Amino acid sequence: MKVFAVLAGFALLACPLASMGETTSTTSTSGKMGETEVIISGQLLRDSVWVITGRGGNIGLSVGADGVYMIDDQYAPLSEPIRQAIAQISDRPIRFIFNTHRHGDHVGGNEYFKGQGALIVAHDNVRARMSVKQELDLFGREIPASSEEALPVVTFTDALTFHLNGDTIRTFHVAHAHTDGDSIVHFQKANIIHMGDIYFNGRYPFVDIANGGSIRGMISGADTALALMDENTIVIPGHGPPVSNRTELQEFRNMLDGIANRMQAHIDAGKSLEEVAAAAPTADWDAEWGNNFISPELMTKMVYQDLSR
Ligand SMILES: [Zn+2]
Repeated sequence: MKVFAVLAGFALLACPLASMGETTSTTSTSGKMGETEVIISGQLLRDSVWVITGRGGNIGLSVGADGVYMIDDQYAPLSEPIRQAIAQISDRPIRFIFNTHRHGDHVGGNEYFKGQGALIVAHDNVRARMSVKQELDLFGREIPASSEEALPVVTFTDALTFHLNGDTIRTFHVAHAHTDGDSIVHFQKANIIHMGDIYFNGRYPFVDIANGGSIRGMISGADTALALMDENTIVIPGHGPPVSNRTELQEFRNMLDGIANRMQAHIDAGKSLEEVAAAAPTADWDAEWGNNFISPELMTKMVYQDLSR
């Protein structure tokens, strides 16, 4: 009994917030983007893996004796409040930032966190795409090249494994999905998978065709991840409610497959975009998935452009 008591005491002391009688399972700060107040909040998922939300892609986090490993970093104006939120749950340095892909709502904090000593890691194509200006045709926008200070320092082609905080964190590339630089992150011991933007939870996704994405690649990427999951797997989507599961990801995947198949039939029949849009090919899915960032009209246009190339 005495040994147990000593160990329990040590565990409490080792965790500064717990020793003050506070919970360590949530964290919260706030920041500003322009005039908009953004709440940064985090919750413990399992073992030492957290998810943090603010504005932009959902952030995954592994904390522990080896330091902080962070998946994506949202927008630059939120970097300081994000750092503060993480400081509430770990006094260890942020050692690694892993970018799931190159979009600004996932890499916007790279420069700040690199300046704080983090090593930025991503697929080869993330660095290549960030190094040049980017066209977002669907939104009629152009994004300038990133500065050298924001670029990943370590890049990889197929897969890369981190051995940190008692877990094996396997990261692997899936081809031509949301972009051509996507990675999925698998915390093997914690049984948690961060999907990046291959998964928009409860909403139509953006498929960035101009940056090498494709709906068939999204489906294939989802299938690859689903094969690694069981009923206890916690799934972190790139966007949407940050805690999901295998069943919901399967529904998302089936929605993509249903729309792609229906669109392909229209394209095979030689229909123009106008004709396809008039036939409302996404109507069966719109009520559940079409009320957010990507409208039914944009979804139709995007998938038509993709599959008619
Ligand atoms: Zn994205």
